[in-house]
Amino acid sequence: MEYKHIYGPVPSRRLGVSLGIDPVPLKVCSFNCVYCEVAKTTQLTLERKEYIPAEEILSELSEYLKTYPGKIDYITFSGSGEPTLNSKIGYMIREIKKMTSIPVAVLTNSTLLHLPEVREELLPADLVKCTLDAADDKYLRRVNQPAKGVTAEKIISGIIDFRKAYKGTLLIEIMLVKGVNDTEENYRALSKVLPEIKADKVQINTVVRPPAFGFAKPLDDEELKFAQKIIGNGAEIIKPFNRETNAAYKPDLEKAIISSIRIRPQTLEDLAEGLGVHRDEVLKYIELLESEHKIVELGLKGQKFYKYIEK
Ligand code: SF4
Repeated sequence: MEYKHIYGPVPSRRLGVSLGIDPVPLKVCSFNCVYCEVAKTTQLTLERKEYIPAEEILSELSEYLKTYPGKIDYITFSGSGEPTLNSKIGYMIREIKKMTSIPVAVLTNSTLLHLPEVREELLPADLVKCTLDAADDKYLRRVNQPAKGVTAEKIISGIIDFRKAYKGTLLIEIMLVKGVNDTEENYRALSKVLPEIKADKVQINTVVRPPAFGFAKPLDDEELKFAQKIIGNGAEIIKPFNRETNAAYKPDLEKAIISSIRIRPQTLEDLAEGLGVHRDEVLKYIELLESEHKIVELGLKGQKFYKYIEK
């Protein structure tokens, strides 16, 4: 069976071995984050609908779980846009819980959590990771470039209300981009709202993969530590993906990517298509190889190509 809406398992820094579900097409989102690793948003919307039929996703997943022998830590709704825009996400989570005991995670940008029905739909998930990069509209606009009608106040009160009813693990991710939302003012504002949210964990992240907007650059270690100090609330800095400890790491796939871009520079899409794997999976390896300065990104005719650096 050819899988169109599920991918991986991919090595995830947070979730271990994660089998991805892509419930919206590329690139439907309520944000257009400058750091987005997927692409620039082409359909900036708050409209919820069944962008991809739930039954198609569930039948792929059921087939996959019958044949995949390995360990999966999470089945994760994420992928090519904002997963809660799919109006059947609640139904899908409930059906997956009937199908398997593998925990279900949802990675959301939090823009729809002010809607009672969305909060209700996510309740059966085992883990929900909410993005919160800014605590006021000025920084929200700079870093997330949201759809009309999205405000920091709505996002924050949506997360607070969700936490009140949600019994699973709630993570807050704060993504910091140099020169965009990395100010003491933003850190102090975040620090003030976090006690109200009462997340199980607050994680600080920075740009590690090729961003949609080239100007989105990462913070260095010192800057991240400064952010951690001001944000407080037990926030931790996310560590890079580790080859040795991640069971989803596939040495053969890494070798194949290197061999491929050693011959000629390629885009993410070229690599994903050529190797027959989802772009998110290729991205994990690109991120790793870039952090080790083994590959470089080249811009050509508006596209990003990756090239291996021979040492
Ligand atoms: S990072 Fe997530 S929320 Fe932001 S634009 Fe990309 S898919 Fe949307």
